[in-house]
Amino acid sequence: MSKKPGLTVLAGPTAVGKGTVSTYIRDNYPEVWLSVSATTRAPRPGEVDGVHYFFKSTEEFERLIAEGDLLEWAVVHGQNTYGTLKSTVNEAIKEGRSVLLEIDLQGARQVKEAVPDAKFVFLAPPTWDEMVRRLVGRGTETPEEQQRRLETAKLELAAEPEFDHTVINDDVRRAADELVSLMGLTPHAHLQEPSAR
Ligand code: 5GP
Repeated sequence: MSKKPGLTVLAGPTAVGKGTVSTYIRDNYPEVWLSVSATTRAPRPGEVDGVHYFFKSTEEFERLIAEGDLLEWAVVHGQNTYGTLKSTVNEAIKEGRSVLLEIDLQGARQVKEAVPDAKFVFLAPPTWDEMVRRLVGRGTETPEEQQRRLETAKLELAAEPEFDHTVINDDVRRAADELVSLMGLTPHAHLQEPSAR
């Protein structure tokens, strides 16, 4: 039953806050080696190549796929392609680091095929209503688009039993601490309130 320390995969439905939890971990837990994915998406303001992602052209990404350099890859939201580089992850695991992949469900399923003894953690919303609020809350999508997102969310939530553990994202710091504990690391004592992000 006990799993080797090493690789942990964090996945979950869109808009559940995976990015926020992994940003919190990047800022507060340097002992976690957070994998930097390759993507064809353009950088957003403030994003740094090699820190947040390795930004690639479509041709460069196709080369990574063709040369078998990716542990997993997927087209996310039918738009951009994202993938995990085998070489950096393998190196970190070899060095005995605790490696965290924050990826989408399609990618998590591929890692399960390739590395069945990795640890798979599902990040879930506190309630369905909260999830609906987060998905449609911005009010920028048409009712049809909102409906499409909710249908996708339902399918994504149904994947929970495929995972070893579920962490509820009711509070970013609490969820991150629980994830770190599941990775076999010790959560930090929090001496002061984190600054608002
Ligand atoms: P964003 O474009 O907002 O940074 O990320 C969009 C989605 O891509 C998130 O759901 C994130 O989990 C997913 N993602 C990021 N990196 C990877 C990766 O390497 N592989 C896969 N399969 N998904 C990824």
